[in-house]
Amino acid sequence: MTTDLQSAKHWIRPQIRALTAYHVPDAADLVKLDAMENPYGWPPQLVEQWLDRLRSVELNRYPDPSAGDLSEMLKQAMQVPENMRVLLGNGSDELIQMLILAVAAPDRVILSPDPTFVMYRMIATVAGLRYQAVPLRADFSLDPEATLSAIEKTRPAIVFLAYPNNPTGNLFDAAVVEEVIRAAPGLVVVDEAYAPFTDASFMPRLDEFPNLLVLRTVSKMGLAGLRLGLLVGAAEWLDEIDKTRLPYNINVLTQASALFALQHKSMLDEQARQIRADRATLAEALQALNGIKVYPSEANFILFETPRGDADRVFSAVREQGVLIKNLNAAGGRLQDCLRVTVGKPEENLAFMEALKNALKR
Ligand code: PMP
Repeated sequence: MTTDLQSAKHWIRPQIRALTAYHVPDAADLVKLDAMENPYGWPPQLVEQWLDRLRSVELNRYPDPSAGDLSEMLKQAMQVPENMRVLLGNGSDELIQMLILAVAAPDRVILSPDPTFVMYRMIATVAGLRYQAVPLRADFSLDPEATLSAIEKTRPAIVFLAYPNNPTGNLFDAAVVEEVIRAAPGLVVVDEAYAPFTDASFMPRLDEFPNLLVLRTVSKMGLAGLRLGLLVGAAEWLDEIDKTRLPYNINVLTQASALFALQHKSMLDEQARQIRADRATLAEALQALNGIKVYPSEANFILFETPRGDADRVFSAVREQGVLIKNLNAAGGRLQDCLRVTVGKPEENLAFMEALKNALKR
């Protein structure tokens, strides 16, 4: 039996108790188009070569603490400017956490547009910081006046800009992003998780802005299971943020597998090209449906709006036909009536379209 003093209610901070855990639905037996994964696997011969490589990995030893070889490989693969450093994380999620921990203090503010990737708010809250959301405009573009005025008022320690944005899929205007970087008193992190699916990037511009860091991940290019992200920027910032990192955060299997996979990056690039082409086909098919509003995407997913009040029903009807997408309706605000579909293999996209058409017929 627990006394009140021994209860979670007593000890767990109210901010944590008020949070809703990041929920990942069960996708067993469903066509999985909910999580922005690359749908393609590797040819069997490549899998064999990879498994051969893993044979020599020593599981009894700690990993290379700085993952030196992998860092070098990633710098090349992601065209990191020569004079910039990289810091690796167990997914870019962990790097968001390290960044926030490095600036955390009760009066500090983390600022992002809204809607955006939920982990900025979630980690800021867990770390005990204040979170300031600045509403995007109706077309999900950055609102320069509102953003600049919120920056001036709240003096955020970090501004996070997902570029392209999740869950909306659009790219913010680069000139407005530039204004934000110049106006921000602290760091601006441009989160380029969806870089494989767009030509736009702030990576080549790191030198122009002393308070800019670029965040990348290998998840969306086809290696989500490895959990590997990288933060890129000047040593002055990264050396400090590195102090919040737990030792050996990139395990031996991830290091060996990512090194192997990046040696075959042309295959992953080809898959991304295919996904980009299929995104256009899928967007066109969605646009042709009556009552569906499609938002432009530079990522590997598409946000669309159902007729008013119909999103939950359409989502469930699509799932009942064996296709799992993401229901954003409950998030409310600008995401009311919105659903998000990840671009899958052509046959998966067709199965989704078929299911959606049936769902809309009712
Ligand atoms: N940033 C953005 C904008 C994302 O959408 C995601 C994942 N959905 C992440 C970061 C985290 O990616 P990961 O931890 O897999 O690197």
